[in-house]
Amino acid sequence: MIAEAIQKIKSELPEGVQLVAVSKFHPVEALAEAYAAGQRIFGESHVQELTAKCPLLPADIEWHFIGHLQTNKVKPLVAHVSLIHAIDSDHLLHEVSKQALRAGLRVDCLLQLHVAQEETKFGFTPGEAIEYVESGVWRQLEGVRLAGVMCMASNTDDVRQIRSEFRLAAQTHRQLRDAIAASAADDEAACAFRHLSMGMSHDWHIAVEEGATLVRIGTTIFGERQY
Ligand SMILES: *Cc1c(COP(=O)(O)O)cnc(C)c1O
Repeated sequence: MIAEAIQKIKSELPEGVQLVAVSKFHPVEALAEAYAAGQRIFGESHVQELTAKCPLLPADIEWHFIGHLQTNKVKPLVAHVSLIHAIDSDHLLHEVSKQALRAGLRVDCLLQLHVAQEETKFGFTPGEAIEYVESGVWRQLEGVRLAGVMCMASNTDDVRQIRSEFRLAAQTHRQLRDAIAASAADDEAACAFRHLSMGMSHDWHIAVEEGATLVRIGTTIFGERQY
C-alpha cells in the first residue's frame, strides 16, 4: 500500500517537484517500506523522533525537519537534517547557524510564511519576511543558507481560500528572491533561494498548481497517524 501510494503521487508530480514523505508517528518499518519503494526524503516534526529513527535506516536518506522547532532542540538536530522547513524567527535562524558552525556544517533553511487565516500558525507575514530578507542580517549567518519558504494553508475545505493562500506564498517567494538578487547583485544567494514547500495530503494538488517545489505528504502514504 505504501509503495503504491508513493508511486501514484510521484506519477502525478510534475518534473522538478519533490516528495517529502511525512513519516512522523509512523514506525521505522513503514519508513523502510517507503525506502524500498524508492523514497529518499522523509519529513519529521519532532527532534527526538527524528534522531531516534535516523540511525535505524539507510544513510542516504535526506531528513527534513518540518515541525515547529524550539531553540533548545536545535543542537541535537543539526547533524541529522538536510533541510529545516519552518524557521519562524531571526532568533531561531541564529541558533541554527551557531549550532551548525559548531558541528562544521551549513544547513539549508526555509522561512515559514504565515498566510493562513488561523491565528495559531507560526511564521513571518509576507511583509515581515520581506523586511527581514531586505535587512540582510541573515547574510552574516555562515552556518545556514536560506533555501526558500514554506507555508501551511488554512485547514478548510474552501478550495478558493486554500488557493489564494498558496498563491500569496508563491508571490512572496518571488518577491523575496528578487529582493535577494537586487541587493549586492547576489545571484548565488538568489539561486539558493529556490524552494517553495507547500501542500499536504488534502491540498497538495492545489499547491503544485500554484508552484510548489516540495510537497509534504503523510496520511496519503502511511495512513492515519497513531498518536
Ligand atoms: C504532518 C504534517 C504534514 C503532513 O500532513 P498530512 O495531512 O498527513 O499529509 C505536512 N506538513 C507539516 C508541517 C506537518 O506537520
